[in-house]
Amino acid sequence: MEDCIFCKIAAGEIPSKKIHEDERVLVFYDIDPQAPTHFLVIPKEHIKGAGEITPENSDIVAYIFEVIARIAKDFGLESFRVVTNYGVEAGQSVPHLHFHVLAGRELGWPPG
Ligand code: 5GP
Ligand code: ZN
Repeated sequence: MEDCIFCKIAAGEIPSKKIHEDERVLVFYDIDPQAPTHFLVIPKEHIKGAGEITPENSDIVAYIFEVIARIAKDFGLESFRVVTNYGVEAGQSVPHLHFHVLAGRELGWPPG
C-alpha cells in the first residue's frame, strides 16, 4: 500500500534490522525499543490492524504466533509479552497490523 511505512519496510524500500523474513511475514527490531528485547512481527500483506481481521485473512495471525514462538525459543526467552494496538486511542501509530514482542524486563500490568 502506498505511503505505508511498514509496507515499505516489508518491500525492502526502507531498511530495517531484520530477524526473520519469509514469503508471508517480516520480523525486525523496533526503532524505539521499550524493553531490552523489542521486535515487531508484520504480515507482508497490508492489513490495517487487529480490528480488520476477517475469515479471509485470519490465517496469517496463527502463522505470526507460530513465528513468534519459534523466535522466542531461538532467543531463549522464557517470558515475553505480545501486544497489538488498534486505533489511535489504543496507541496505534502505524496503521499496518503488527505485533510487538517485548522481553527482558519486568513488564507492568495493567498497561498505562
Ligand atoms: P504502534 O505505536 O503502532 O503500536 O507501534 C509502531 C511501532 O513501530 C513503534 O513502536 C515504533 O517505534 C515502530 N516504528 C515506527 N517507525 C519505524 C521504522 O521506521 N522502523 C522500525 N524498525 N520501527 C518503527
Ligand atoms: Zn502497509
